[in-house]
Amino acid sequence: MLATAEALATLLSAASPIAGTESIPTLEALNRVLAADVTSPLDVPPMNTSSMDGYAIRTADLTVQGNVRLPVSQRIPAGHAPEPLKPGTAARIFTGATVPPGADAIVMQEQTEAAGAEVTILHSPQAGEWITAQGADIRSGSVILPAGTRLTPQALGLAASVGCAELVVRRRVKVAVFFTGDELTMPGEPLKPGAIYNSNRFTLRGLLEKLGCEVTDYGIVVDKLDATRATLREAAEAHDLILTCGGVSVGEEDHVKPAVEAEGRLAMWQIAMKPGKPLAFGAVRRAAQRGEAAESASASALASDSAETFFIGLPGNPVSSFATFLLFVRPFILSLAGVQTVAPRALSLRADFTQSKADRRNEFLRARINPAGGLDLFPNQSSAVLTSTVWGDGLIDNPPNHAISAGETVRFIPFSELLN
Ligand code: AMP
Ligand code: MG
Repeated sequence: MLATAEALATLLSAASPIAGTESIPTLEALNRVLAADVTSPLDVPPMNTSSMDGYAIRTADLTVQGNVRLPVSQRIPAGHAPEPLKPGTAARIFTGATVPPGADAIVMQEQTEAAGAEVTILHSPQAGEWITAQGADIRSGSVILPAGTRLTPQALGLAASVGCAELVVRRRVKVAVFFTGDELTMPGEPLKPGAIYNSNRFTLRGLLEKLGCEVTDYGIVVDKLDATRATLREAAEAHDLILTCGGVSVGEEDHVKPAVEAEGRLAMWQIAMKPGKPLAFGAVRRAAQRGEAAESASASALASDSAETFFIGLPGNPVSSFATFLLFVRPFILSLAGVQTVAPRALSLRADFTQSKADRRNEFLRARINPAGGLDLFPNQSSAVLTSTVWGDGLIDNPPNHAISAGETVRFIPFSELLN
């Protein structure tokens, strides 16, 4: 069995960014990944602006002690170009308006007294007061968002602030997914004896959609080698990754592993972690490689001419598939998508519980942050208890052979890092 760090390194070393980019409207680019640096063609703000409603003045005109009375020579609302400020005068100005050439400070209106065409200045400002200088946020020519950035709402705002109407992003990662298990039933259908609902379809589809993948869902595939092989062959054609769930252990009804070995190759199997020991990684050959004509027209639409499609087989237990997805599939898909930083940021938090039994495997325990800022443990850590994943705020990454005593600091990976 591979250690988790080693397994992750194996996965990530195989995942180079997919080829294929497109230019899309900035307004539609949320969560997409930049394929090229965004460089600003201008200074932001593009001119000196007032950050207050008040009066633009020259500090040189305020050298006398006490209040100074100045004629108001112009009125400058936001969006209008000002005249240069006449010496010995003030300009009425509003937030966001351009500071007139010659003025070097804004006095907020609360520190003035207006009387007809004149204003009394009750405050002696520093040069630059309440002025946002041209280029204070962004300098023309600087890279504001590097390639590999996953576009957050604030990144879209930043791109828009320099006038970018379109962004060059990578195409979405295409993922095929299917679920094995003759016991699986879809919600909405009656539950026959021995059957359970296919909860993982909902969890995994949601996780893939959150990552911005283009998903083809083949649904439930029966526990038969032929059916599993046929679905793998079909899924290999127009996807970057095939993700399966269940049937990846060593039981007689587990056909995923032999099916992948027959249709491609298996590079890795079984990780020393709990939950989630069986996790398979490999690749499935594409039709051209099998000596057949490509059947699917969309196959040629794949920018990557790879002879194979990546394969990851997740365990069937609901908590195991959830945890292995978060820890391995998520960084793998983000790497394919061209994202620069794929590692989740962990916190060091105090354990407010004791777990006296150490496990030989690297455990990922479902825990919740309590009001005192420490961690509580969900009482049932079984890999079949999906409730723990909804109750918890994240996973404690507990190294192998390590018992946890109350008060100890542990490594906690919040779901907010793993689910974004
Ligand atoms: P397997 O990995 O196929 O041996 O399945 C391990 C356990 O997970 C079994 O108890 C299965 O019934 C359960 N399981 C497998 N697939 C799913 C699924 N899609 N949704 C919920 N439970 C599942
Ligand atoms: Mg099964």
